[in-house]
Amino acid sequence: MNQETSHNVAGQSRATPVTVIPGDGVGPEIVRSAQRIIEAAGVPIVWEEAVAGAEVFRRGDSSGVPQATRDSIERTRVVLKGPLETPVGFGEKSANVTLRKLFETYANVRPARELPGVPTRYAGEGVDMVIVRENIEDLYAGIEHMQTPDVAQGLKIISRKGSEKIIRYAFELARREGRTKVTCATKANIMKLTEGLFKRVFEEMAPEYPEIHAEHLIIDNVAHQMAKDPAQFDVVVTTNLNGDIISDLASGLVGGLGFASSGNYGDDVAIFEAVHGSAPKYAGKDVINPTALVLSSVLMLRHIGHEAAAASIEDAVLCTLEEGHAVTQDLARQVGGDVEHAASTTGFTDAIIANLGRRPTTVPRPARSERPSGEVAARPRWSYAPERYAAIDEVLVGADIFIESDDVPSVMGPRLASVLGDRFRLLFISSRGTVAYPGAAPVTDHVRHFRCRFVAASADGEVTDEDLRSLLGRVAGMYPGWNHVEKLRRFDGEDGFTKAQGQ
Ligand code: NAD
Repeated sequence: MNQETSHNVAGQSRATPVTVIPGDGVGPEIVRSAQRIIEAAGVPIVWEEAVAGAEVFRRGDSSGVPQATRDSIERTRVVLKGPLETPVGFGEKSANVTLRKLFETYANVRPARELPGVPTRYAGEGVDMVIVRENIEDLYAGIEHMQTPDVAQGLKIISRKGSEKIIRYAFELARREGRTKVTCATKANIMKLTEGLFKRVFEEMAPEYPEIHAEHLIIDNVAHQMAKDPAQFDVVVTTNLNGDIISDLASGLVGGLGFASSGNYGDDVAIFEAVHGSAPKYAGKDVINPTALVLSSVLMLRHIGHEAAAASIEDAVLCTLEEGHAVTQDLARQVGGDVEHAASTTGFTDAIIANLGRRPTTVPRPARSERPSGEVAARPRWSYAPERYAAIDEVLVGADIFIESDDVPSVMGPRLASVLGDRFRLLFISSRGTVAYPGAAPVTDHVRHFRCRFVAASADGEVTDEDLRSLLGRVAGMYPGWNHVEKLRRFDGEDGFTKAQGQ
């Protein structure tokens, strides 16, 4: 993090610039609530107001994030934002995701902690976990293609660098907050190369943090365990799609969307937002629960080094919930209270402000290493070394060529065999990952989309690029419906590709 601290050389408090994006729907109301509380807590912040989302799409900017907003974020490097809508028919990419990607905020951090006065099935069990979700890669890289009119493909991209960054982030967060366990949640048993890489990097890094208990659980078991005994989790680090799902699950365990805060952290920029969306039906009615965004602003204050104010606001929120005098409609519904006379957003905000300086009586403050106000949180740096590639032995051993065809595999196999030449053999044809030739599974239901695996015919198992180009020319001449080629390589003697089911 290379942002300036909020103290000048004379030790005088200097205001920290923050980009604030009020957002759509209920966004302006919850953002205003957080701003009022921060101001009442005496934190010196200069708000740079910027726009993104629905109104930007509607005026024809298909990115949803105008240049002036990008410029502001480049200057301030800290963003407090309300929810953003992606109106139907105005560009297909979410402005939220665009913002996270433009500024490479690779760590999505979502705490889920039991709150006083918020009834849940797990009340009293001490649920207090943080989900650390990789925020850039995985299927959310958004690289999708229709390979045929009827077959869609999405690429699941997992890199060592991306994995290393988020896993280090999770361990450093655990260390900083005095947490004792990090659980890595993957589907490495099925996706051995993608999710498997994430798991491997976790296992490589864990010994650097001997004081932290490191464990790996399969993601489906994590979901099961979270529903059964959520208090067992402390920090959970996971890939993007897994994290999207289990972080919502974790929010549900402690009271739901009205209470779920989040921070998106990068090396240089951090974006703080509620997990919920713009809840348009409540917009402008002064009824929405602002807790999620207020708690997100607590994360923001910690990030910019205002730990004391962060703790004070967090305590005031907990006090207000604990007292139960000011209860917003959503919570009144959950506790079976008087929804008609529930607190307004403004009233609830006033109650939090009135409680600044008080501490909740039923909730112990979590052990957290406090930083002096004004000191910017140190962001962990990744230790990725490109030199490692020079040392890796890489051998080309064949290619998968994907073909759209009406031929059945038993016809396609012999036809392809006739164009192999002497450098290749056809190892198999698979359909949707299952071998369809030679010999098919007893029950098969093929689609017009085949993967044909060609491997080296030679004893040393190697082919050249030129061999591949020439093979592709012959295959494409026979099957103009070919649509995709993937090279098969071995790295340091290990296959860089998976087998087919039934191979
Ligand atoms: P939503 O989260 O806006 O609302 C779903 C329901 O949850 C609401 O109707 C309401 O009953 C409840 N709710 C949500 N927040 C609440 C709060 N603070 N207090 C009380 N109740 C609350 O989800 P949606 O309706 O699916 O999405 C609406 C829009 O928001 C969509 O355009 C979507 O794309 C966008 N969205 C944006 C973000 C973001 O900016 N990060 C996240 C999710 C959805």
